[in-house]
Amino acid sequence: MRHLLSGTVAARGMALGRARLVQPSRYAVDTRPLAEEEVEGELAKLHQALDTARQELRELRGKLHGALAREVNEFIDAHSLLLDDAELLRGLDDLVRIGRYRPGAALKKQRDRLSAVFEAMDDPYLRSRKEDVEQVINRVISALQRQTSPEERKLAARVGEILIADNIAPGDMAQLAGNGLLGVVASSGSAYSHSAILARSLGLPMLVGTRDALSNIHDDDLILLDAERGEVIVHPAAQDLSRYRAWQREAAAEGRRLAKLANAPTRTRDGVEITLLANAETSADVALARARGADGVGLYRTEFLFLRHRDLPSEDEQFIAYRDLVMGMGGLPVTIRTLDLGADKADAAGLTLRGEDNPALGVRGVRLSLRYPAVFTTQIRAILRAACYGPVRVLVPMVTQPDELIAVRTLFKLARQDLKREAIDLPEKLPLGAMIEVPAAAINVRALLEHADFLAIGTNDLAQYVLAADRGNDALENIYNPLQPALLRLISHVLTSGRRAKKPVSLCGEIAGDANFSALLLLLGLHEFSMHPAQILQVRDRLATLDHAHLRRHAAQLLNAPTHEQAEAMLNEIVAASAH
Ligand code: PEP
Ligand code: MG
Repeated sequence: MRHLLSGTVAARGMALGRARLVQPSRYAVDTRPLAEEEVEGELAKLHQALDTARQELRELRGKLHGALAREVNEFIDAHSLLLDDAELLRGLDDLVRIGRYRPGAALKKQRDRLSAVFEAMDDPYLRSRKEDVEQVINRVISALQRQTSPEERKLAARVGEILIADNIAPGDMAQLAGNGLLGVVASSGSAYSHSAILARSLGLPMLVGTRDALSNIHDDDLILLDAERGEVIVHPAAQDLSRYRAWQREAAAEGRRLAKLANAPTRTRDGVEITLLANAETSADVALARARGADGVGLYRTEFLFLRHRDLPSEDEQFIAYRDLVMGMGGLPVTIRTLDLGADKADAAGLTLRGEDNPALGVRGVRLSLRYPAVFTTQIRAILRAACYGPVRVLVPMVTQPDELIAVRTLFKLARQDLKREAIDLPEKLPLGAMIEVPAAAINVRALLEHADFLAIGTNDLAQYVLAADRGNDALENIYNPLQPALLRLISHVLTSGRRAKKPVSLCGEIAGDANFSALLLLLGLHEFSMHPAQILQVRDRLATLDHAHLRRHAAQLLNAPTHEQAEAMLNEIVAASAH
C-alpha cells in the first residue's frame, strides 16, 4: 500500500530505490552491577572495543580516495579525537571501576549525558555536534557487542539502496556513497549536522527527522525519496513515478547546462566581467569552490575552527587550517576573516562574555578579539605564517569605527616583528579590510576607507542592525527584507564610496548567492559577489542574462522607492524592460 512519511530536507534531490534499514543497536543493556572481581576483565573489554572503533576509523580513512577522502577525513578526525578524549575515557573508566557499571551501560550513560549537554546548547551548530558524540559511542557499543555476537554491523549497502537509519556517521555515509547508495532517510538528526553537510556536497538526497521511518518502512520496500518536498513515498504509485521521471529529466538537463558554466568566465549580457568568490568553511567547500570556478575565497569564517574545539585552537592548528585553505585554492586570493564570536556564535572555550543583556549589540567580532590581545595575536601569527603560501587578505568583522582597524593593524605589525625575530618566513604584504555590517560603519565608510585596503559588506548583519530585526527571528520576515530602501541606500553608499577611493568592495551576505537578487546587486554597482560555492553556477547563469548598463541607469530610480514592496515591483519592471 502506498503511504507517505514526511521529514526535513537536509540535502535536496530525489531518488528511487530499495529501502535498506539499519536498526539502532539492539543491544540490551545489562544493568546489573559488576562484582569487584569482574571489574578488570570488563575494563579490558571496554578498551578492546574502543581500540576496535579506532581501528575501524583508520581503515575507513584508508579506503577513501581522492576528493571524497579530503571531504570526509575531517569528520573522521573529529570522531577519532573524541575516541581519544581524556575526559570521556576517564568518565567511562570511573563508571566501570567506581560505579560498577558494565561497559555497555557505561557507554550508554556517557552517551546520554553528553547528548543532553549538547542538546541544551543555544547554538544550532554546537547542538548538532550531539550527533557526532552519539555516532562515535554507538560505534564503540557495536564493537563491544560484536565481542559476544559477531554477526552485527553489516553496513555494506548494495547499489540502488536508500538507507533508512536513526542517524548515520559521515564516515559511513561516504563509504556507502562509494558503494552506490542513492539517498538517506534519517529518523533523527538536523540539517546542520556534518552528515547533512556531507550529503549536500556529495549530491546525495537526504531527509532528517523522518520520525517513524524505522517502523513504517521495511527492508527491500520500494521507496521514492523526495528531498525536494520533504517526503518519502513507500510503494510509490504510477503518478509518483512519472513525477520522479520528470524531475530526473529536468535535473539532468539543468546539470548539463550548468556544468558547462563551471569554468566559464562570469559576464553580464553586455560583457561586464564580474568576480564570483566563495564563502568557504570546510575543505569540502574549498573543493567545490575550485570545481565551480570561483575566483577566490571572499569569506573564510574562522570561528568555525573555534566552535569545533573545546579549547582554543593553538597557533599551529590554526596555521595548518589556514595554510591548507590557501594551498587548496592554488594561488587564487583567499580572504580570512578574523574571529567573529559573540552574539549567536558562542564558543565552547568560554571566550565570549556571559550574561550580556544584548549579545548581538555586545562584545562580538573585533570588539571581542581586541579584548583578548593574546588570543587574537595567536590567530594573527597563524594567518601571517599561512600567508606565505599564497595571496591572503585579512577581513575584520563588526567594525564600527576607525580606531578598531588601527588597533588590528598595530597587532599585525607587532606580530610581524616577533616572527621576524624568530626567523619565521613572512609574507610581503597583507591587505587589511573591514566588514561593513554595522550601520555606523556604512554611514561613515569614508573614514574607514582611510584605513582599510578593501571592504566586504555583510548584509546578513547589516540588515539586522539597520532594521533592528533579529536575522534569526522568522516573525520579522516582513521587516527583515533585503529590498528595504534604507538598506539599499546604505549598500549603494558603501559601493560608491569604495569606487571613489579606488578600493575593492565585495558583498558576502546570503543575498549574494541568491540569483533572485543578482539584478538588484548589479544595479547597486556590485562587481564582487561572495557566496556558498554551491550557488556559483546559478548566479553565473543569471548574471549572463542581465544587462549591466541598463540596470545601472535605473539605480537612482530604485533608490527612491519608499517601501520594500515598491522597490520590488520597480525592480521587476526594470529587469523585465531590459529583457526586451
Ligand atoms: C554577514 O553578516 O553578512 C556575514 C557574511 O557574516 P556572518 O553571516 O558570518 O555574520
Ligand atoms: Mg556578520
